[in-house]
Amino acid sequence: MTDYVLNVKDLRTEFQTRAGTVKAVDGVSFKVARGRILGLVGESGSGKSVTGYSILGLIDAPGKIAGGQVLLDGTDLTHLKGEALRRVRGARIAMVFQDPMMTLNPVLKIGTQMAAAVRAHDKVSRKEALKRARDALAKVGIPSPEERLDAYPHQLSGGMRQRVAIATALLHSPAVIIADEPTTALDVSIQGQILAEVRRLADETGTAFVWVTHDLAVVSSLADDICVMYAGRIVETGPAAEVIASPRHPYTAGLLLSVPAEHPPGEHLPQIPGSAPSITNLPPGCAFAPRCPRAQATCTTPPPVRDFADGRTALCHFPIESEQCPPLSSRSTISQSAS
Ligand code: ADP
Ligand code: MG
Repeated sequence: MTDYVLNVKDLRTEFQTRAGTVKAVDGVSFKVARGRILGLVGESGSGKSVTGYSILGLIDAPGKIAGGQVLLDGTDLTHLKGEALRRVRGARIAMVFQDPMMTLNPVLKIGTQMAAAVRAHDKVSRKEALKRARDALAKVGIPSPEERLDAYPHQLSGGMRQRVAIATALLHSPAVIIADEPTTALDVSIQGQILAEVRRLADETGTAFVWVTHDLAVVSSLADDICVMYAGRIVETGPAAEVIASPRHPYTAGLLLSVPAEHPPGEHLPQIPGSAPSITNLPPGCAFAPRCPRAQATCTTPPPVRDFADGRTALCHFPIESEQCPPLSSRSTISQSAS
């Protein structure tokens, strides 16, 4: 039996706004096993960040978790409050944000703030805390970690700052790290180095990662499994390599067609027509139907979760069967119907 450290079940997060109830996360379920990396993918506004914040109990009023469970090693985090939640957060589960300055304090030296993070959960001497901070910096591939302890955040490059944020998340060897687009603002080669370090960390430490990104190229090089999100729901799941080689949900297929690496430079990049729907005003049935090249009349009714024999799923009336789906490089027919 697979040992899942994080098991998110039917999570629902809502915001009360003047325009109505925003169901930002609408029945999201997924599991991550020890040492595995789950890519949570989708366009901007699909509910990825709110999913991450909900898992860590970081949703403030007028938002609330309206239902579901977040089981971390079997303990439901949605029922923890105050001190009990603080004990878990940072120690058993940690978050890395897109902007490392969400984690780092600009007026404190790296060593000072990392030592404080160690001592927030463990009663150790400052000297021992600094040693743990230095070891964590070395783990994420930071050269001369001893010297970095003495630096202020602004003295480091963006890529180094993000490595420090990841090292801080690692200080207590958490079971799970939720990373919300942490490499999006970095240039491609720095991003590639960090992704390689993260892959190695997951393998060596057994920490499981949920890697939130809108960038399928990132997931394809990093993740074991993928969940594709659209309008607050998971629309496709499966092993990353298989989903990317032969997407079953038309939305995933559309996302893949707009990956620049799949097209010669200068060629027109196909885009999914239309834009992501407003979550306060979703169409009845499948939320993607108005933009979907495969949509039929039935798609105005709620789509079923299709379970395929290989363990993959798609929330769709008319998923793409594998024999219909040619390899990415020769998928021009779908590209034309989608544009
Ligand atoms: P993503 O990270 O995928 O880009 P988000 O999780 O940030 O998307 O947002 C999902 C949806 O929830 C969006 O429609 C967004 O407008 C809405 N949302 C997020 N935070 C709030 C909030 N505090 N109040 C109201 N709506 C919110
Ligand atoms: Mg986001």
